[in-house]
Amino acid sequence: MAILVTGGAGYIGSHTVVELQNAGYDVVVLDNLSNASEKSLERVEKITGKKVTFYKADILDREASEEIFSKEQITAVIHFAGLKAVGESVQKPWEYYNNNIAGTLTLLDVMRKHNVKNIIFSSSSTVYGTPEQIPVTEETPKGECTNPYGWTKSMLEQILMDVQKADSEWNVILLRYFNPIGAHKSGTIGENPNGIPNNLMPYITQVAVGRLKELGVFGNDYPTPDGTCIRDYIHVLDLADGHVKALKKIEENAGLCIYNLGTGNGYSVLEVIKNFEEATGIKIPYSIKPRREGDIPANYANAEKAYNEIGWKARYGIREMCEDSWRWQSQNPNGYED
Ligand code: NAD
Ligand code: UDP
Repeated sequence: MAILVTGGAGYIGSHTVVELQNAGYDVVVLDNLSNASEKSLERVEKITGKKVTFYKADILDREASEEIFSKEQITAVIHFAGLKAVGESVQKPWEYYNNNIAGTLTLLDVMRKHNVKNIIFSSSSTVYGTPEQIPVTEETPKGECTNPYGWTKSMLEQILMDVQKADSEWNVILLRYFNPIGAHKSGTIGENPNGIPNNLMPYITQVAVGRLKELGVFGNDYPTPDGTCIRDYIHVLDLADGHVKALKKIEENAGLCIYNLGTGNGYSVLEVIKNFEEATGIKIPYSIKPRREGDIPANYANAEKAYNEIGWKARYGIREMCEDSWRWQSQNPNGYED
């Protein structure tokens, strides 16, 4: 009996594999390593002292998936595999729709053939578009996404809901992540973006470690207290824990469930910089740049539903998220590359 983790060598996946193994689950990872290093899994094994069964494979490759489902006793799938760079998705929409949507459709087909009808899907707060009210609850209507990446999440949610509606043997849990940052306390696994980071925290840590000169703050004229955008940053260890709790819900044959995974607290870009500086003692030089297209002024979660239904609550605050992001970056200035 094992849990298949697609995209398990990636940032959130590798942290979730640790939590799953610590909770006593056997884990099989499928990852094509398009945005990950196999070293992350070696380090996971060091952290947990347990073996990870790894298949370098693509979710678009039906035969490869068939082989995994034939060989391994998979009971549920945690599905992280996907392309996730917002800007790149605007340039390469076909690649994003093909990888994320066609890949997931292939995976679902192989799953049902093997009578594995339990899936936890990595969704995103991006499916709310520009919400009319914050904090957003799971009842907040979904909105217009501003890029193909966001649409793949929104469309895949719909596909998974329809699959579950047509066949009640399916258990589908959609987890809408807010802004994952932080790293494992050991500092040995963490976020390792390719090229110049798009996201705020990896940009800050790369400035702190000297790989980048200064941070650009995208806009300071938003209708927020300090004019910079507000987001709900969540520790990746809390996210990982959310998946283990969601798995318990699947084991109760829950049908369809949707949960926000956020802390419920919003921080502005300037507040994140300040917290990082206070947590690490390192000054982050920054300058104000024009707004980034598609950014919304503020977004944060109401995460009470996850607490009420699966007993999940974020444990870590912004200060610890900054400390842990920095421990990872400072111990691994070039990520998984030597
Ligand atoms: P990541 O890029 O580190 O992990 C994704 C993994 O999937 C990578 O290891 C990549 O090699 C693998 N992959 C991609 N396409 C594949 C394919 N066709 N076949 C097999 N493997 C494939 O990203 P992450 O930050 O860990 O995100 C994990 C999931 O969570 C993604 O689906 C992402 O869209 C979603 N998500 C991430 C965030 C975030 O800010 N990090 C927010 C919301 C949702
Ligand atoms: N941001 C920024 N400079 C950067 C990267 C991000 O000012 O180099 C801002 C961005 O405009 C947004 C916030 O930081 O308001 C979080 O951005 P990120 O890309 O991390 O997450 P998302 O846009 O998905 O919420």
